[in-house]
Amino acid sequence: MVTDSDGFPTSDFFQRGVHLIENGGVTETIFNNVVGIYLRGAETGCIPSMVNYANCYLSQYKPHLALPFLLEGAIRGHPDAVALLLCRCYANLPQFSLYFYWSNMVKNWAGIEEERYKQFFGGAKKMKNQFDNTCCICSEQQSDLVDLKTCNGCKLSFYCSKECQTIHWEERNHKNECNQLKILMKYHKPYANEIREQIMSGDDPKSIIPLQKLRNKLGLTRPRKEYEEYLDLKNLDNDLDTSTSTTNDDTINPHTLLIPRNNGTVYVGSWTETM
Ligand SMILES: [Zn+2]
Ligand SMILES: [Zn+2]
Repeated sequence: MVTDSDGFPTSDFFQRGVHLIENGGVTETIFNNVVGIYLRGAETGCIPSMVNYANCYLSQYKPHLALPFLLEGAIRGHPDAVALLLCRCYANLPQFSLYFYWSNMVKNWAGIEEERYKQFFGGAKKMKNQFDNTCCICSEQQSDLVDLKTCNGCKLSFYCSKECQTIHWEERNHKNECNQLKILMKYHKPYANEIREQIMSGDDPKSIIPLQKLRNKLGLTRPRKEYEEYLDLKNLDNDLDTSTSTTNDDTINPHTLLIPRNNGTVYVGSWTETM
């Protein structure tokens, strides 16, 4: 079994994709070829292919199409998938709890080198320190006068008052994020290491029951027709400030599709049926 530097099995598709890019440069034809090759690799359960496939979309400023494949890689325990999910998707959102969930998770994984961890996740730690014990809306800090409360659902967000909690829940969409966190805490956290070890030892992902259950709960396995409309969006508004952007028939900000839906599931699933 050929593995990448993190010990995850790779595939012939992955090797071919990397070889093509290294030897052919990045012309449009090669790029399109490589996208197809990585998708086929992803379909065989090759996580390095999933990560590179997602990266192709990130390079085209389509983070909403990268997210499902990064999440697939993250729930299987690949540090590169988590790193991209954090810096290219969740770091751009006004909510931070999903960001913290995933950066905390990586710490528990064996074989993450100190240097690499620092490179990818050092920033997350700094951010966590900054946000811990601070109201996530008005930045009020814990003190003799202020008694911060945490969100009951995820325990990751702090509030100084009911008012700030309501703003976070309603206006900043923490409701959606918190619902995904509940799914992750129930169906991912207890099984995270088990899934990761099975994937690393080359087990067929379809035979890993907690993984398939989790994919289903997160909406990654939703039928493609339910999100077909987002796959070929023409007018993308890539302003990172989602609060000022308008999402209407003409333009859509892909970052708004990175926030989970109301019930905590993803907007766009991973459209292969074989993973
Ligand atoms: Zn506050
Ligand atoms: Zn919450």
